[in-house]
Order: sequence, then C-alpha cells, then structure tokens
Amino acid sequence: MSIKAILTDIEGTTSSIDFVHQTLFPYAKLHLRHFLRAEARRPEVAAQIHAVALEEGRALTLEDAADVLDRWMAEDRKATPLKALQGMVWAEGYAAGELIGHVYPDTPVALRRWHNEGLQLYVYSSGSVEAQQLIFGHTEYGDLTPLFTGYFDTRIGAKREPAAYHAILENIGLRGEEVLFLSDIGEELDAAREAGLATTQLLRDAKARPFPHHPAARDFSAVRLV
Ligand SMILES: [Mg+2]
Repeated sequence: MSIKAILTDIEGTTSSIDFVHQTLFPYAKLHLRHFLRAEARRPEVAAQIHAVALEEGRALTLEDAADVLDRWMAEDRKATPLKALQGMVWAEGYAAGELIGHVYPDTPVALRRWHNEGLQLYVYSSGSVEAQQLIFGHTEYGDLTPLFTGYFDTRIGAKREPAAYHAILENIGLRGEEVLFLSDIGEELDAAREAGLATTQLLRDAKARPFPHHPAARDFSAVRLV
C-alpha cells in the first residue's frame, strides 16, 4: 500500500452539510450580538470589531458592528472578521455543551483504524482551522483531534485549484500518490487529482451524483486505500 496519509474534507464527507448550515450558522447568528456586548473589551474581540469597521470604511458603534455582521451573515459573506467572531461564539457554545460537532458514526471508526494502521490524517476544509478543531474536538464520540496530524483551510489555497493541493503536499512532505483525498465535491477531487493525489468521492446523500473518474464510497467504511 502506497497511501501514507489521508486528507479529508469535512462538510458532506466526515460530517453532514446540514450541521454547518442548520446548526452552526444559526447558533452564531443567535448569539453574536450578545457575545459582542459581553466580550467587546477582550483584545481579540476588539481587534475583530475594528476590522469590521475597516472593511466598512466608517466608524462603528458596537450595535452598528453587530448590524453589519448580521447583514454579512444574511449575505453569506466570507469576511475574515466575521469568520473569526463566529469561531469565538462557537468555541463558547462547544465549551458550554450547547454545540456537539457532527460526524457520521462511521467517521470515528475509520479515522481510528487508519490512525492505528500508521496513516497520517489531515483535514482540508473551507471552514477555518479553528472551526475544524472545534468540530473534531467536541463530537459525540469524544475528542477526535489527537488522531489528526494537521489542518488546512483556504489560507493555503482554494479547494478547486490544484495549487492548493501542491502546497499541502509540500507542507506535509509527501508525494501526491502517497495521499488520498476524500471529498463530496467533484471539482475538488479533480483539482486534487491534477496535483497527483489519489481521490475518493463520498456519496453521503442518497441524491448525490457520482462524479466521473473518481472511486466512490457511500461512507468511510467503504473507502479503499488503493
Ligand atoms: Mg464538502
């Protein structure tokens, strides 16, 4: 077996897409204004509020900033200060036990098996590294973060661009054929394959359509390392 590492997507792959869109985003929307009122004096919170004002190009009161963030969330803007503040709200939610990171039941089973077999496990997701660690750190199957060697988000490149996968290979010090990339999105799998990685498409959703040229698996128990 030549595969030495597995690089996995989260949404639609280890975890349900609904968890992000129907649990995490609504939780942030519900709690962000209160969080700002309560925590605005914390330097890391103040810095992000300042970044919101910079991006808007005007001075903002705390309530103005909350209004702007509400608008950005409604527009699904991927602004850095919004992502950072959402991450802080989620961190509190996980710590309070109000959020549980969703993974499919076959995910921890396969991750532990691969880890025990000596494979290195990495995450590559559009959610921030901090958000990735929160999800895997607080699942109903316990803290899965000790299984992972490293995490990548879009700071290393866009998921549909081969350059991102080249950068990840360079970072982890492996050749493309030694790394298996798992994702539900055909364009991401194409980009990874162009960079030389092995690929498998996860078809979690019964309605999911297989993308040509990639092995497919209904869940992690069906992923083959060849
Ligand atoms: Mg995905």
